[in-house]
Amino acid sequence: MKVAFLGLGIMGGPMASNLVKAGHEVTVWNRTPGKITARARLAATPAEAARGSEVVWICVADTAAVEQVLFGPNGVESVLQPGMIVVDSSTIAPSATRRFAERVRARGAEFVDAPVTGSKIGAEAAQLVFIAGGEQKAVDRLDPLFKAMGKQVIRVGETGLGESAKIGMNLMIALIYEGFAEALTLTRKLGVPPEKLVELIQASMIRSGVTDYKAPFVLKRDFTPNFPLRLMHKDIKLMLQAAEETGTQLPALEKVEEVYRRSVEHGARDLDYAATLETIERMAGLEVEEEVRAGK
Ligand code: NAP
Repeated sequence: MKVAFLGLGIMGGPMASNLVKAGHEVTVWNRTPGKITARARLAATPAEAARGSEVVWICVADTAAVEQVLFGPNGVESVLQPGMIVVDSSTIAPSATRRFAERVRARGAEFVDAPVTGSKIGAEAAQLVFIAGGEQKAVDRLDPLFKAMGKQVIRVGETGLGESAKIGMNLMIALIYEGFAEALTLTRKLGVPPEKLVELIQASMIRSGVTDYKAPFVLKRDFTPNFPLRLMHKDIKLMLQAAEETGTQLPALEKVEEVYRRSVEHGARDLDYAATLETIERMAGLEVEEEVRAGK
């Protein structure tokens, strides 16, 4: 298929590469020049990338970025055609997604929200799970592209429900990791070696995908960003916004948001969200070994 891919970050970069590897005709665009995809055409603007393509796939940081790419100067809107499908794999506000979809549909094109789960390793290994919202027919047309980048597509329902389910998933990730970080910190103060706690967790029913993925990095104190803390903080704010819009109380998440805010104040925004452990350690009066952070 003829695909425009917009946003070549931690996730978008390998996703675009996997489309090329699967034989699709790909044109890429990234806001900051310098990011490229081997064997893909490089465009100077979102509109140039999107012109004449069957599918425009977006994977950028946040709601404002998606709005910019679609409707800003040289945005995709000006070249939308009936039959085109715009797919958004960024994690953004469900309410904004519905607004964006309406504007795209006003030009005769289709819109599918398809945020992802699987992180950097899932994107690189084409093992992502897509969480789709939109018309079944449009989702079906995208099947060859989903297959090139992922292992599964779960259509949740109408437009916006992909994003709604995605932020629910990340709510659990944030709370599971927070539990891990607090358990590590308390038991460390009680004298338990972190490796022993991890061994126990992994041998027990507490084991989870989150501890499988994060524990090896945490034990090495390697906070190289796979999922940057700033993006999980953005997602937590999306969850709190959705909670306000729906009259839902999220008391645990409100406390976790405070931990992310403090982590950002400590300069950890571009580290992995696993670095929130350092904030819990600081709050416990423990020494934080800043010098062992990745990249220092
Ligand atoms: P990233 O590495 O920070 O990349 C962000 C991308 O968005 C870059 O291409 C960046 O361009 C672009 N961008 C930011 N602001 C922009 C703007 N105003 N206009 C146009 N482009 C803009 O992030 P990522 O990890 O790839 O994440 C992308 C999306 O996937 C996010 O919504 C994130 O929450 C979600 N997600 C991430 C993971 C993960 O584990 N990393 C997992 C699931 C979902 P520049 O190069 O110019 O900065």
